[in-house]
Amino acid sequence: MSSITRRALVASAAAAMTAILPSQRPVLAQAPAPAPGPFVQPPLPFLEPQLAPTISNRTIILHYSRHHAGYFTALNALTKDTKYVSMTLDQVVIESDKETDRRIYNNAAQAWNHNLYWVTFKPGGAKAPSGKLLEMINASFGSFDQMKIKLKADTTAVFGSGWGWLAQDGDKLVVVPTLAGANLLTRNMTTLIGIDVWEHAYYLDYENRRPDHIQAVLDNIINWDVVASRLKS
Ligand code: MN
Repeated sequence: MSSITRRALVASAAAAMTAILPSQRPVLAQAPAPAPGPFVQPPLPFLEPQLAPTISNRTIILHYSRHHAGYFTALNALTKDTKYVSMTLDQVVIESDKETDRRIYNNAAQAWNHNLYWVTFKPGGAKAPSGKLLEMINASFGSFDQMKIKLKADTTAVFGSGWGWLAQDGDKLVVVPTLAGANLLTRNMTTLIGIDVWEHAYYLDYENRRPDHIQAVLDNIINWDVVASRLKS
């Protein structure tokens, strides 16, 4: 993100920032410095409080600066002096899966999953898809509402930690749930949306109400322009 864009975000968040309890900011300052290495966590495309009340400031801070950052720290440590250091993150996910290097796969996949996750969100995101994306949703699920019902139901049903994905499979859109850190990079599908249902993603805000969290995310903060830009023609 350019510094100009970041400054614009800071300015637009000024009102939201005033609503943050002073005790909430130091959590980020206390976060451990990321371990040095070739794999670098991208910045958030919004400020931590900007997705509230759908996702609270505190959840974003912990999720981004502890959980997501932690996958990068582990990945850099695990891949030191291995062939993986010269690969892109996508390649590490695919190669470590082939080689059954499970610890590297788990951390690389989780790093990748959250990279996609954060940039799917936009404060006050557009309320509905349009154009080709909407046409594909209608053709694959019947309607936008039916797609949301299916994505919410299948993601809610993930047993334990995992993800619910909306993906493009050829000329169709599909919903695919996965367990733990697994994603669709090894399945020849194009990932459009990933909904994180590890408890760290929602428990502080929604406790055990996973479906309410998923519903709020789908209704309030999805950037459908970004989702549409991921479609392969
Ligand atoms: Mn997560």
